[in-house]
Amino acid sequence: MSLQYRSTRSDTRLGSFTDILLEGLAPDGGLAMPQAIPQVSAQELVDWSGLSYAQLAARVMHRFADDLPFEVVERLAAAAYTEQTFHSKAIAPLTPLGVEQGAPLALLELSNGPTLAFKDMAMQMLGQLFEYVLTSRGQTLNILGATSGDTGSAAEYAMRGKKAVNVFMLSPQGRMSDFQRAQMYSLQDPNIHNWSVPGSFDDCQDMVKAVSADLAFKSKYRIGTVNSINWARITAQVVYYFAGYFQAVRQYGLKMGDAVAVSVPSGNFGNVLSGYVAKRMGLPLSRLVVATNENNVLAEFFNSLVYRPRGSTETYVTSSPSMDISKASNFERYVFEMLNGDAAALADLWRQLSSTGQFSLADNQTVRDRMAASGLVAGESSHAQRLAAIADIDAKYNRVIDPHTADGINVGRQYLRAGEPMLVLETALPAKFGQTIEEALGRPAPRRAGLEQLESLPQRVVAVTQDVEALKARIAEQALL
Ligand SMILES: *Cc1c(COP(=O)(O)O)cnc(C)c1O
Repeated sequence: MSLQYRSTRSDTRLGSFTDILLEGLAPDGGLAMPQAIPQVSAQELVDWSGLSYAQLAARVMHRFADDLPFEVVERLAAAAYTEQTFHSKAIAPLTPLGVEQGAPLALLELSNGPTLAFKDMAMQMLGQLFEYVLTSRGQTLNILGATSGDTGSAAEYAMRGKKAVNVFMLSPQGRMSDFQRAQMYSLQDPNIHNWSVPGSFDDCQDMVKAVSADLAFKSKYRIGTVNSINWARITAQVVYYFAGYFQAVRQYGLKMGDAVAVSVPSGNFGNVLSGYVAKRMGLPLSRLVVATNENNVLAEFFNSLVYRPRGSTETYVTSSPSMDISKASNFERYVFEMLNGDAAALADLWRQLSSTGQFSLADNQTVRDRMAASGLVAGESSHAQRLAAIADIDAKYNRVIDPHTADGINVGRQYLRAGEPMLVLETALPAKFGQTIEEALGRPAPRRAGLEQLESLPQRVVAVTQDVEALKARIAEQALL
């Protein structure tokens, strides 16, 4: 029997991995979780430590996707994780910076893929999985999404040219950087459709929600999403925690089993949740540092055990914009685990949340103990601290980091322990956020060779109106059926 999935909000069974791959929320509004988190033995850690990234990805992901033949997962991982796509043989190389307070400090580079942000790490594998599952079932999928910049481009680069998949991506006119616009709109693949909307990201998102709410339309036109609650994305991200740990063991001469800490620039809580899953599988991660920017809902929760998500009026626009999130969708999965899989208790908390806008776990000693054992700790970083970290890392280690990674450095530095490596996840490259780099360093961000002319490539984008019925008509006309 393959690994079964269930909802966080009731005992509803959702089937196996390929059953949940293309689905969004569970029918009860919850998220998919495995019935049990697969375990990796001490001997397997040793055996896996010498594998290539693609081979490691196949072994880790097959634990969650065991309704697919291992050879298939192996083939898809080999196609997703190539040196050509990720500009690095290691795919996610570990780069030591120096030693601070006795702790080795290093960057785990996750942003060497096509769109220069860590979203590529999962999305490239998702593209392979979607194409395989859809073609073997003789189905098609029209992905409808809204993006403020990073997720949309990662999805487009992963799905471009894929059989059986179409992408319709709404983006807010004039709200993305020149670089982000050029990255998306320069794609000429016929299955990629960029539609720009006169409005904000929230307006785009509302249009997507309105289309998805029309269930008859959604099923007739085979509409799907690739948002951050997708469980396959979480499992693909688990892989680089293993790859980072094994590299730390080699580079710092540790014994297998020695503790390593990780600092994770966080927004929707997907990345750090993957780290928590890796730890639960048996990877010796001591602490997972949740680094936030001024949008500090998560930092507040870990320091007070009160969860109070904010509305869009209380969500600040910051210089680490991909973390400007005040309602982290994957946080529900962590709370589910802290409640030891008690879906009824979770549903109670979420009912409380929708009636009072918050809940507290401060009085629950079992949850407090499980949270302490989970290793998650948190902190926040401000604009001034972000600029200071970019300048400091450049001055000390001759390395330019992006603003999100700078938040990871700032909060990671609060949790250094002598002798224990701290791996800071590099979630984007500085070229993507050139303005902030100029502000911090007084010079332009470095750019990967081959991308110098990105903004001057021909662009293919259609300006649409902010009108749901017109959007549906456009989808009906262009959908793959
Ligand atoms: C998406 C993103 C994040 C936040 O990751 P989550 O998984 O949503 O917590 C951080 N940094 C960058 C550059 C991102 O694109």
